[in-house]
Amino acid sequence: MSSVPPPSAPESGVRVRAGSIPPMMLALPRGARMARVAAGCRAAALDFINRVSVRPDKAVLADWLRGAYRRHVVPVASMRTRRIDSSGVMPGALAKLLTHARLEVLTALEIARDPIEGVAFGYSALASGHLYRARDVEGNEGWVPVAQPRMRLTDRVLSLVAADHLLHSADYESTLFECMRCEQWVFDAERVDGRVCAAHASDVRELVPGASRRALAG
Ligand SMILES: [Zn+2]
Repeated sequence: MSSVPPPSAPESGVRVRAGSIPPMMLALPRGARMARVAAGCRAAALDFINRVSVRPDKAVLADWLRGAYRRHVVPVASMRTRRIDSSGVMPGALAKLLTHARLEVLTALEIARDPIEGVAFGYSALASGHLYRARDVEGNEGWVPVAQPRMRLTDRVLSLVAADHLLHSADYESTLFECMRCEQWVFDAERVDGRVCAAHASDVRELVPGASRRALAG
């Protein structure tokens, strides 16, 4: 431990050194805004749920880890050189890994949607150390997911969910649902009662008398 590098200045980004005491508050880079971080985390998590985890494809998972996931997390310093990817996953194990992660994430989403249990979801995410408190240059505060070298895939996805949920728990309670037709998970306040996503709303209007009447009345 004789060559501990000096801590990076907040201006240089939001990286955190492995093994260091987490700072109380991370400063986001000048161009970043808290609301966009949360929205990006939500989009990346939904992409995992609706696309990446649906069928086992090593290239798709690798792209997600290097792209959508990587863009929204703060890597600890040791990860600058360590690749986060799926190259170590054996072909047969990939389906199992994704199925298991998907199931765990969906179970957590069900909890996050519950007004009472959702609070516990937020607290457990914070207690896990997978999130850091952060603030943008406009003073907006929130959380950013932290990418650690040895995190389970489920925890990577859940850290994205939690960063968004901690700011927007009401969206999870009242606008998140799984489409009955295509089984995609979407946030849509207008369609949450019917539980059919925008892509399939027109199909259902013909089948559901109530929806049809509403459409005619509107
Ligand atoms: Zn749908």
